[in-house]
Amino acid sequence: MNSNDNSLHKWIDTTTETLKDYLAENETGPVVKYLAPLCLKESFKLSLGKSLSFDECWILLKEILDKSVRTSHPMFMNQLFGGIQPEALSAEILATALNPTMATFEVAPVMTLIEKELVRKICDIIGFKLGEGIMVTGGSNANLVGLLCARQFKIPDIKKRGYAGKNYTVYVSADAHYSYEKAAHISGLGLDQLKFVNVDEHGAMDPTHLRELILQDKARGNLPMMIGATAGTTVRGAFDPLTEIGKIAREHNLWLHVDAAWGGGVALSEKYRHYLTGIHLADSITFDAHKTFSTGLVTSFFLCKHPGMLKQMNQGGGHEYIFHDYDNSDWDTGTYSLQCGRRADALKFWLLWKSRGDKGMELIINHLIELSHYVKEKIQTSNRFELLSSNYLNNCFQVIPPVNSIDINQYNLELRTKLVTDGKALVNYVQKPDGQIFFRHVCANNLTEEKDIDRLFEELNFCISEIDKIYIRPSEEN
Ligand SMILES: *Cc1c(COP(=O)(O)O)cnc(C)c1O
Repeated sequence: MNSNDNSLHKWIDTTTETLKDYLAENETGPVVKYLAPLCLKESFKLSLGKSLSFDECWILLKEILDKSVRTSHPMFMNQLFGGIQPEALSAEILATALNPTMATFEVAPVMTLIEKELVRKICDIIGFKLGEGIMVTGGSNANLVGLLCARQFKIPDIKKRGYAGKNYTVYVSADAHYSYEKAAHISGLGLDQLKFVNVDEHGAMDPTHLRELILQDKARGNLPMMIGATAGTTVRGAFDPLTEIGKIAREHNLWLHVDAAWGGGVALSEKYRHYLTGIHLADSITFDAHKTFSTGLVTSFFLCKHPGMLKQMNQGGGHEYIFHDYDNSDWDTGTYSLQCGRRADALKFWLLWKSRGDKGMELIINHLIELSHYVKEKIQTSNRFELLSSNYLNNCFQVIPPVNSIDINQYNLELRTKLVTDGKALVNYVQKPDGQIFFRHVCANNLTEEKDIDRLFEELNFCISEIDKIYIRPSEEN
């Protein structure tokens, strides 16, 4: 063994030991030890220059872990992901050690087959008989790819001639993810061509309004191109009515993309799959496994019903040096992707599924849904909390101030700030354009259990009592 091996082993062993201690601390420690940006910056030696010894590196690394947000902590409920499955963690480390690029079968033979197996399995469940797909850098990227496929479908010579001065239009709900807006400008379509469809009281797209907007655009000489539906909206967890929307897409020959980044996970649950009724009518789908299956950022898929479309949309270049015309070139996935180098994100999701089986995967999603019912009950049974909406894994609520004269939005914001600076639990909030501020609780974390939800409400009640003291204390100045 040469000295290099020695050093590599030392790094790996210390990593493993540190990781075990780090994860064990989730049992007792906070989610975050909050420091304001400048204090945080001053507390570290982050600047680059002189070299550090092995031991010095590890002192610094442990400090970094200590001051970072613990997204693998059961009380992390801030984003639409959280926790980490042990299988996924191991697979992620091994995939990094393998470090293939998914561009060619030649360099990533097993990983390519694993990715294809996952794509096939999800396509089968969703009802894309001949479907194809590719893993992408996130749900946002998948929505962009959806739009790019839609325009390839509607404008076959788009690559050469662009939009040729024509006004193509895309329809999404008012509650759709902001990545649709990015896709609209990145693709050169323009934000004015993105039309927002009204939502009903639960946050689901109103198909009657969708139909009206399409007819209006046609009458004005615009060319409707795509409907971007959502299965599981980011704030309220609503599922757009896909059967009805699919019918409209067919009537007008529009591409239907379904952003199932948040809600797609229910496809793996026999019990809750009905949330996705009509999804087989989609032409393409966004699916994030890192959200409901805790496989780590990122584990995202773009799935397409029509074989050949992904290649048609993406293909172009690289044949001189990377996409050789060799025996296995039909297996290369690089020609399906916007990326050149691409990580092996498939292994973590595949290993989890392999380890748990179909039944175990269903249990993961069912647990989250049942936990969110528990959250709903907790909100409903306290007279200081008001439930604003409850769908899927999302519960939105406001805390009622102690007296009527206090601005409810300001009060909720102060409460949220107290929650973050205390650091015992993280739950995100929403600020609407009209100024309304409310908490958005999500169940995405595989480590969160009912007892953690109880802890969350204890912590919230503690913050409430502290903030109330500030408001109710008689002011000495007046
Ligand atoms: C999270 C989310 C996205 C974005 O996914 P990333 O993987 O974070 O890029 C897109 N759409 C919806 C509905 C989401 O909830």
